[in-house]
This record gives sequence, C-alpha cells and structure tokens, in this order.
Amino acid sequence: SRRPAASPAETAEAIRRGDRRALARAITLIESTRADHRAMAEELLAELLPHTGNSIRIGISGVPGVGKSTFIEAFGLHVIGQGHKVAVLAVDPSSQRTGGSILGDKTRMEELTRNTSAFIRPSPSGGTLGGVARRTREAMLACEAAGYDVVIVETVGVGQSETAVSDMVDLFMLLLLPGGGDELQGIKKGIVELADLIVVNKADGALVNAARHAVAEYRHALALLRSPSKDWKVPVLTCSAATRIGVPEVWETIGKYRSTLSATGALDVRRAEQARAWMWSEIAETLTDAFRHHPAVRADLATAEYAVTHAETTPTVAARALLEKFLGRSR
Ligand code: GDP
Repeated sequence: SRRPAASPAETAEAIRRGDRRALARAITLIESTRADHRAMAEELLAELLPHTGNSIRIGISGVPGVGKSTFIEAFGLHVIGQGHKVAVLAVDPSSQRTGGSILGDKTRMEELTRNTSAFIRPSPSGGTLGGVARRTREAMLACEAAGYDVVIVETVGVGQSETAVSDMVDLFMLLLLPGGGDELQGIKKGIVELADLIVVNKADGALVNAARHAVAEYRHALALLRSPSKDWKVPVLTCSAATRIGVPEVWETIGKYRSTLSATGALDVRRAEQARAWMWSEIAETLTDAFRHHPAVRADLATAEYAVTHAETTPTVAARALLEKFLGRSR
C-alpha cells in the first residue's frame, strides 16, 4: 500500500525538519530525467531556495588511491565533533563508462555513514558531465536546506570533473601523494591551478620525509602559478588521514580561508559568478537537448555527422544547415 506522494511543500518541510529520508528521496527526484520528476524537482527547489546557502562548500579531488574517502571520513568526523553537520556528495564522470559509482561500490566512510550528523550520497551514474554537475549543485542546495552546514563534493581526479566541481564550491582542495616532482607531472597542471588548498596525504611512517619533500616542491611550483584569488595564498599542508594527524589543521585552514574571503567579499563574488555560469550552462544544456530532439534536425543528424567525418562538408557548413532547420528557416 503506497502512500500518496507528498507535495513539494510537504517534502520541503520534512527536509527542513532534518528528515534524512525525505532528503534522500528529494535527491532521487533531482537525479531523475523524467519530465514530470524534473517539474516536481524544480518546484521543490523553489521551496527550498530561501533556506540554502548557509554552508561552506568544499570540493575534494585527487587521484584514485590518494586517500579521499579515508580523509573525508576523518575530516567529517572531526568537523562533526566541532558541532557541524556534514553532507558528502560525489561527482564521478567515470561512472558513465563503468556504471559503478565512487561512493557506492565499496564500504567507504563506515563510521561517518553511521553518524547521524552526516549525510552521504553516492554519485548517480550516467549522463553528461553537465547533467551530473547540475544534479550535484541541486543536491547541494537540498542538503543546505536540510541544515548541513559543511557540504563536501568529492570527485575522482581524472581530469574531467575538477573544473565542474571547482565551479560549484567555495573552496577546492586537492589531495596529493608524497613523492614530489613526478607526482606533479602526473597531475594536469591546470588542476593544480584550480586548488585553493593543497594537502599532501599519507604523511606518516616511512612517508613523512617524502611528504615534506613534496610540500617543498608544490610550494615552489605554486610560486610560479597565479593564485585563484588575490586575497589568498594557496597553502600546502600535510596530513595523515589514516592516523588523523593534521586533519584538524585542514579544517582550521578552511576556516581562515572562509573568514578572509568573506571579509573582502570575494566569497560572495565567487558564488555570484558561479550562479551566473550555472544559468548559462543550463541554457546551453537545454538548447542542445531541444536541438537534438527537434524532428527535422534528428532526421539529418546522422547524415551530417557522416558528411563531416568523411570530409564531404565542413563542420561549419553542416552545423549551419542543422541550425537553420532547428530555427525553422529550412529552405
Ligand atoms: P581514494 O581512492 O582516494 O578514496 O583512497 P582511499 O581512501 O580508498 O585510500 C586508498 C588507500 O590508501 C587505502 O588502502 C587507505 O588505507 C590508504 N590510505 C589512505 N589515507 C592514508 C594515510 O594517511 N596514510 C597511509 N599510510 N595510508 C593511507
């Protein structure tokens, strides 16, 4: 026997009361691509919007194996110990290929998962990076309305999703391995440039010296890069997520970042810019979708792609012909 579906207003109220199942259901709705679900999600988000924004949004990235989940477990528990509520969301473009998800496949963050002040959401699989990013942004708003004042967005450092994540958070943190110069080669330079905070993890046992060495290398490398914000010099810290040494200092540094950039207004500017960019990416996604589904365009797409890939026509000419069909100017 199924209960009748709750109205968006009722769901919004349950979320604001801290009902985690209501929050989880809301995110499922947000993740759905069905048109009726989309409409409901938008109504729900409109109800929630006045209650969003009261969190520090933290992006965490790093190559597989760097210790992201171990770090988030230690960090999340520390932050909860300071009286906060922590939500963890994930952006995983690789799940498009594998159908798996970075938070869903293993038993990760066991203690944090059990903590009533934590909400952990595995990444949904499938969709374009743009679509995944939209769902994560909206899920982030829902978490904020539910009273989570620390929202972590985790992404696997494979080079595609970092920009999307840094575009939706207040602070983008890069986790690195001890090991110095070679590591820097392994990580795309543009990604180091996105970081507001760099943390060399696994600074324990035999790796302590290598970690110190790595810090020196990254500080040197960063001196040659432009800082993402003129108000903030990107710190390079060490920590051991496994022993939890250095984890409280990461939280302290994030607090300094927040107070420094709030005081200058830079944090508000960053959020305003992000909102503007989000609007434009919504427009681009929606237009592309409408374009692909336009009957006249659909009829010609395969032919056009064939012609372009076989150099029978130029991409410009093919694009223009398709766009004219879309805009109803076909002759
Ligand atoms: P992820 O793939 O980035 O999420 O990395 P995991 O958190 O799954 O960690 C990968 C491996 O590194 C696991 O075997 C962890 O136990 C180990 N690990 C994580 N953090 C540390 C640390 O601070 N020190 C050491 N020595 N090992 C760690």
